[in-house]
Amino acid sequence: MEEEKLLLIPGPTPVHPRIINGLSLPTVSHVSPVFIKEFKEALSNLKNIVFCEFGQSFIIAGAGTLSMEMTLVNLLNKGEKALVISQGYFGQRMKEIAGTFGYSCDVLQSPWGKAVKPEEVEDQLEQKNYSLVVSTHVDTATGACAPVHQYAEVVRGKSALFAVDGVCATGGIEERMTDWGIDVILTAAQKCFGVPPGLAVLVFSEKAMDKRKSIPSVQAYYGDILKWLPIMEDPSKYFSTPCVNEIRAFCEGTRVIREEGMEVRFKRHEKIGQAIRAGLKSLGFSFFTDEEYFAPTLSVPLYPQGVQDHAFRTKLAENRVVVAGGLGKLKGRVFRIGHMGNISYSQVEFALSSVEKTLSEIGYEFRAGSAVQAAKEVFQE
Ligand code: PMP
Repeated sequence: MEEEKLLLIPGPTPVHPRIINGLSLPTVSHVSPVFIKEFKEALSNLKNIVFCEFGQSFIIAGAGTLSMEMTLVNLLNKGEKALVISQGYFGQRMKEIAGTFGYSCDVLQSPWGKAVKPEEVEDQLEQKNYSLVVSTHVDTATGACAPVHQYAEVVRGKSALFAVDGVCATGGIEERMTDWGIDVILTAAQKCFGVPPGLAVLVFSEKAMDKRKSIPSVQAYYGDILKWLPIMEDPSKYFSTPCVNEIRAFCEGTRVIREEGMEVRFKRHEKIGQAIRAGLKSLGFSFFTDEEYFAPTLSVPLYPQGVQDHAFRTKLAENRVVVAGGLGKLKGRVFRIGHMGNISYSQVEFALSSVEKTLSEIGYEFRAGSAVQAAKEVFQE
């Protein structure tokens, strides 16, 4: 049997047995009462998770990139412009998608490791008219968490809709759609939901739904939310066969979140982020991301002198913890450790003890036990 490893990459994240069991439930008919009930429950839980009072949730086979694409193609009419607020890698992807469909799009790009300031968004919106403003919440390459609540306040007074890419945030960091005035949250199953990859997940506000309805035709067929709307309102209807088992697992994932409670869950993510950073810092790691923008879901530690990326990550995996390498210009200088979804304090302590074991095996000197101790102190606070 394959040895179990703790998966701390920035998604997919560890899947709780209750959720993985959802995949092994019978593949029932997509219009059977049992599935209709679960699909409805998942859609309704999803709205609760993002604090959306009015609006429509969508759960569709795909991944985060499909959610990004669906947001753009469903909300931009021909000739309309989008503004992308980018903290790094995935904002650039949003721009690429916009370009593919021929939309004109400006990008406000922060330096890597920081986030765009709300004042910059304000200035840009003073200068030009946009129909849609979209921001990444947590950039998965840089570990920067953007102040999306403040962006929403800035966009609120304008005519543009505001969308948030919550792929590395939704369900782990607060996102209050109705109260803050977010029009779309786009995300995927495999990160803070702790569900296996395979789903594009979106919530549209009423205003966003009205916008889509005002567009005569969009550049999508499978990704046209109006084709999916009747199914999301009444899952006994058919448009394209939903991935029954994935959705059953997702439904369980949303139950786990609601049972934990949103406030407790957000707090746990914050604590775990702090504990992991305190532990790594005690070993001599520093962080690529500016402290002001640390994300509760993901950290990007810079290697101290004497620690090589490849050797470190290979040995760490042998010690049963899997982390990811740096993306783009950060390759080799950092590793990325995801700490989101359904992970526990004891798993964090295990991860840090494996980091210590790995460092001692590669001959790096540090005070033994310091990382686990530092994490424990954070947990006890
Ligand atoms: N946006 C962000 C912030 C992401 O982290 C990712 C995936 N890492 C995506 C979008 C794309 O998601 P997917 O890989 O599921 O297509």
